Amino acid sequence: MRVAQTFACSRCSLRFPRGPACPECGDEAPIDLRNPDAKASLERKLGKRSLLGRWILPLAERGYDTVVFITLIVVLTLAAMLGAMLSGSMLAYFGAYLVVPVAGTVAWVLLWPKLLERLDEPKARRVLRVYRPPRLPEKVRTTLTGVVQGDATLVAPLSGRRCIAYRLVGRVGDDEVDDTVAATLDVALDNPDAELDLTGAIFELPTPAPDRTEVGPVLAPILAPLVVVSDDDIRGREAHLAEAVLAPGDRVEVEGRRDVRAVPDGYRGHKQTLRLAVHGPAPLRIRPIPRND
Ligand SMILES: [Zn+2]
Repeated sequence: MRVAQTFACSRCSLRFPRGPACPECGDEAPIDLRNPDAKASLERKLGKRSLLGRWILPLAERGYDTVVFITLIVVLTLAAMLGAMLSGSMLAYFGAYLVVPVAGTVAWVLLWPKLLERLDEPKARRVLRVYRPPRLPEKVRTTLTGVVQGDATLVAPLSGRRCIAYRLVGRVGDDEVDDTVAATLDVALDNPDAELDLTGAIFELPTPAPDRTEVGPVLAPILAPLVVVSDDDIRGREAHLAEAVLAPGDRVEVEGRRDVRAVPDGYRGHKQTLRLAVHGPAPLRIRPIPRND
């Protein structure tokens, strides 16, 4: 099990764990950050551009700017010719047949790409937030407790501690990080009749205040699918991160939407079983229970 929020919605500047839709606007074509091309397009979409850029760039992308240019030159040249005919001056003829079309074309070839580049440079960039599902209403939520089981096959990137899951919280550049990486784990529930499906669960492991750190060879591959900067750029970036780990044997509580179902049970007919799992937008949260010692 690996919990990572690798989908993003450019309209909401939001990163979230799973498709198919953005949890805030419902857009059904979220961007998958594991795809480098998709990531590059998101970076562009998050940029704030000038009003002129927002109008001209989409036209230029489709090649319509050439059509607009040719039309403009033809219209100007025709206007200059009309002017030359009416005024009858040699200078006006010179302008109509030479200066307007030639100077226009030269300016187009030399200056237009530079202007487009200028317009394409974002003035600022929107920050990518991490989605946090709202707390469930009290009457539908319930909590199960138990002990984490499994093998400590992960190494937490900041502390180097072996663990079964770790959560990273903070920022890389301006973008928010709040992500958990988890190995395959199970929770041995105190209530033996209850059932639990941890797929898609959110790990709410309490972290200290984030510290300044540089994205090195250990953090780079972990953060690469979570932040928008291209994979080559991420190394050496400054990040502010904090970490928390979950280890086998830790006691946890799991909070989710109450779902009681009848399960066939020998001669008694049916018994009621409490089941916790992710239900559509209703999240499942895992929190460690502090030890008493
Ligand atoms: Zn959205």
